[in-house]
Amino acid sequence: MTTVALKDVTKVFPDGTIAVDNVSLDVVDGEFMVLLGPSGCGKSTVLRMIAGLAEPTSGAVMLDGEVANDLPPRDRKIAMVFQDFALYPHMSVGDNIGFPLKLSGVEPVPRGERVQDVASALGIGDVLGRKPSQLSGGQRQRVAMGRAIVRRPGLFLMDEPLSNLDSGLRAELRAEISALTRELGVTTIYVTHDQAEALTMADRVAIMRKGVLQDVGTPTQVYGRPATLYVAAFLGSPRMNLLEASVYVHLDRYVTLTLGDQALYLPWDDIRSRAVAHYHGERIVVGMRAEALTPVAPDTPGDVLQGRVRYLEHHGHESLAFLDIGATAIMVDEMSAPADDAVPGQRGLRRFGQVMSRLTGRAGEPE
Ligand code: ATP
Repeated sequence: MTTVALKDVTKVFPDGTIAVDNVSLDVVDGEFMVLLGPSGCGKSTVLRMIAGLAEPTSGAVMLDGEVANDLPPRDRKIAMVFQDFALYPHMSVGDNIGFPLKLSGVEPVPRGERVQDVASALGIGDVLGRKPSQLSGGQRQRVAMGRAIVRRPGLFLMDEPLSNLDSGLRAELRAEISALTRELGVTTIYVTHDQAEALTMADRVAIMRKGVLQDVGTPTQVYGRPATLYVAAFLGSPRMNLLEASVYVHLDRYVTLTLGDQALYLPWDDIRSRAVAHYHGERIVVGMRAEALTPVAPDTPGDVLQGRVRYLEHHGHESLAFLDIGATAIMVDEMSAPADDAVPGQRGLRRFGQVMSRLTGRAGEPE
């Protein structure tokens, strides 16, 4: 199919807006890459440059290893799906799907067969005679998908294709889109600001902020080992706990990690020591996911962090405890805690076995 590579791509609009700032990214053949970031971070501009609808100010957009900066959109073997679906209202569903084939001169009979195949694969084979206005939002989205895949493109570009749908339908369609693109083996670049969509659909996620690429990796990598503090704070609900700490490595091989007014003395062979040892003498930021913190009984021996439960929040499938540990508040997944130990306002101290899951950066690093 198609590989895409961006090499130091920058896009500056005439009014001086730097929409994309020196982005380099490789998308491999058949990969499902999601561009994720808040509104205005430059995701759509990246997509438009790949499609040939916008020209990079500098850098190269490469398709299948060739610089494609000047290649017209029609020569790129690309299909795009947008959030507004952009169907032709006066045409039937079948004609909408078949339109790209008609444009490229495919005869009516093979065209009809191909439309029927695609429509059946998308579960809209029985509405081919209707007009778009007679369809539900989900069906319209499937028609847009059908029109995109009918020409068997080498590359799918999708810009928030589900954002106009309600949440139940979004979940259903995101599974369908994932399955369909994988079945077809088409390289796909999918833009969204919805992290649930990104983490569930992507082979890899590229996270952008203010035109700058922050991190690229599998959902597990970017969630578990975010490359920057911004990504650590942006991804995941609840947010990752981020605490400033200082590190001191003792020559007789143990590490003091000071978080607020609490010092933890960690033996050398503790995995947490190895994670922080090379920051000796520095202030760092320690990132801890709520689910990586294990509540333990107050009398548990060893290096545990102490905190006081301020309040609890129940979410059905999980309960979160918000704790003060000195000057900082953190969140902890409460599911493993004994019920009688989780009373809001309780004065007793709570301790934690797994203090640290991830080190995410040096203190003072700009977010
Ligand atoms: P959204 O999710 O809201 O669509 P996005 O991440 O896709 O946002 P872009 O549409 O790529 O972001 O826009 C990136 C930046 O470039 C924004 O600050 C936007 O205002 C700006 N921008 C986009 N198009 C133009 C233009 N034609 N002229 C000037 N600035 C533009």
